[in-house]
Amino acid sequence: MGKSLTKSLVLTTIIPLMLLGVIIVAYSSRQIRTSIEGEVQDGLKNVALLTYDAYESTFPGEYKYDKENSELYKGDKKISETESLLKKHKDISKCEITIFYADMRVATTLVDEKGSPIVGSLANKSIVKEMETTKEGKLYNKTVINGKKFFTYYYPLTDDADNVIGMIATAKDAGYVKKIIYEKLVPLGLIIGLGLLSIVVLIWIYAQKIIKCTHQIQEYFNSVQKGNFEDKLSSNVTGRGDEIGVLGNSAVQMSNSLKKFIERDALTEIYNRRHGEKLLRETASNLRITGEGFYVAIGDIDFFKKFNDTYGHDCGDLVLQHVAKGLVELLGGRGEVIRWGGEEFLIVYKVSGDLIAKEVLANIQSSIGRRKVVYNGQELNVTMTFGATKGSEKYSTDELTKQADEALYEGKEGGRNRVVWYDLEEE
Ligand code: GH3
Ligand code: MG
Ligand code: MG
Repeated sequence: MGKSLTKSLVLTTIIPLMLLGVIIVAYSSRQIRTSIEGEVQDGLKNVALLTYDAYESTFPGEYKYDKENSELYKGDKKISETESLLKKHKDISKCEITIFYADMRVATTLVDEKGSPIVGSLANKSIVKEMETTKEGKLYNKTVINGKKFFTYYYPLTDDADNVIGMIATAKDAGYVKKIIYEKLVPLGLIIGLGLLSIVVLIWIYAQKIIKCTHQIQEYFNSVQKGNFEDKLSSNVTGRGDEIGVLGNSAVQMSNSLKKFIERDALTEIYNRRHGEKLLRETASNLRITGEGFYVAIGDIDFFKKFNDTYGHDCGDLVLQHVAKGLVELLGGRGEVIRWGGEEFLIVYKVSGDLIAKEVLANIQSSIGRRKVVYNGQELNVTMTFGATKGSEKYSTDELTKQADEALYEGKEGGRNRVVWYDLEEE
């Protein structure tokens, strides 16, 4: 049962929460990537256009290529390998900037492993082709330059005849973009992960508590089923204010009702003979263990039949209830009263010594006789005869009740309304 509750908890709550976490992280990383890439691309485009404009305003005139000396001019300005304007723009924008003649790097801030500018190297052929046909600037993701991936923007340079003679390109290391994405994504992922983890842990702890309660209720039912009415249901369950607590308390009530049905007599609500025999056996084995003495008495209502015959069965029932109640009150906490048969009651009690035992029983017998029963406004006298014996290791409980019965018979024969002790010496 516990297994399947845990399983359904995992299936219905924990796995969906984990999936939600994965979806949130995946979606966020996409959003972050798109926005950072967008920012980088805007930056690349701006830097390329600003550099283009800077050359336009600082060095008026067209781009011209001197084929003999392999040199590129902007107006009168010869574009050198290490252009200070490109360096200045790179320092501000943190982008690499390159000027191409056709597909060849003439000036660039990009350097190789040794730190030398990679002038003379060539641009990607398809990009050059695209610039020549469209004559418009364009962004490229993951352009490979010198073995490394870059985000790039290419802008065509044209001569006076509007022919594309070269390009200005800006580039940003793709690794740098990746790093920024991770820097933003890691804390977000951690926050979402920890948040979801704490929700999962809380749900888990709460669910385990409930599962434990259901186990306790289950165990309680099992022991009630086996007739162990003495088992208690933990207050962790019964003290809960929720449905589990209500269920636990219902189980306890059910057990109590069952115990009452099994152990008690319906009319008088005192113990029935079956439970009485069990109590008697327990008391006897206690004597064997602790040496604690006990006494057994059977009380029978005198001429009970006449109540039934004269006033009806209801009156008989009323007398039985009255006597049972009276016996319980008079015995107090000294022992137990059991409905032994029709109008016979067994009393098992413990006192310190035979003298007190006799006194107690004599008092019960006489007090019952003084307590009047009122039926239909009529006061009825009820007397009882008792036969009693002292518990002893020598005799079984059957033998003890037989002794008490014999003494009772003697009492009836002797004129009723009295106590007769079996074989107990006068002190
Ligand atoms: P004695 O003094 O010799 O004990 O006489 P008695 O009339 O008390 O004894 P007897 O055994 O002749 O009668 C007992 C009667 O108790 C017989 C039975 O019908 C009646 N009885 C047994 N159980 C119940 C009960 O639950 N309710 C009522 N009203 N009567 C009961
Ligand atoms: Mg009787
Ligand atoms: Mg009888």
